[in-house]
Amino acid sequence: MLHREVDEAAGRLERLHADRLRCRRGCTDCCVDDIRVFAVEADRIRERHGELLASGRPHPAGACAFLDGAGACRIYDDRPYVCRTQGLPLRWLDEDRGRTVELRDICPLNEEGPVIETLAEEDCWTLGPFEGRLATLQAETGAGMERIPLRSLFDNEARKRQAPPGTSAPDLP
Ligand code: SF4
Repeated sequence: MLHREVDEAAGRLERLHADRLRCRRGCTDCCVDDIRVFAVEADRIRERHGELLASGRPHPAGACAFLDGAGACRIYDDRPYVCRTQGLPLRWLDEDRGRTVELRDICPLNEEGPVIETLAEEDCWTLGPFEGRLATLQAETGAGMERIPLRSLFDNEARKRQAPPGTSAPDLP
């Protein structure tokens, strides 16, 4: 449900900023290799993509393990929250010498267009509220707040068991 709400809100912004967004299948700049997620999101990926995790190969180190060879996400419908807002104009609040300041950013590929500092607040993706709700969901499980590296979801032991006799599947990077 949270992902659906994120998609609805992000979808409005994607339509609003369609002229400047260069995001497309095959552009993987945002799909970095060090993404970590709460167990609530990791468990969903485990539930929905067991076969991939047990017998599939992670993308080589240096980019997200879930990318395929053509630069597409292999778990797109179940990708974590953080992957659902990439490319949008972002805004967040920070502290600077006791003052609350607003910061903004956007992918350099999506820079062309109205200067993001001139956009209305509601026309940017505000970091914080959904992250807070996700953290609350995780806290409610009682399973701790540790974040799990996406790459670690691939079942290395299963891959080793499935390796043909006389060979060994390489360890995960
Ligand atoms: S889970 Fe999918 S969308 Fe998210 S970083 Fe990995 S490949 Fe990209």
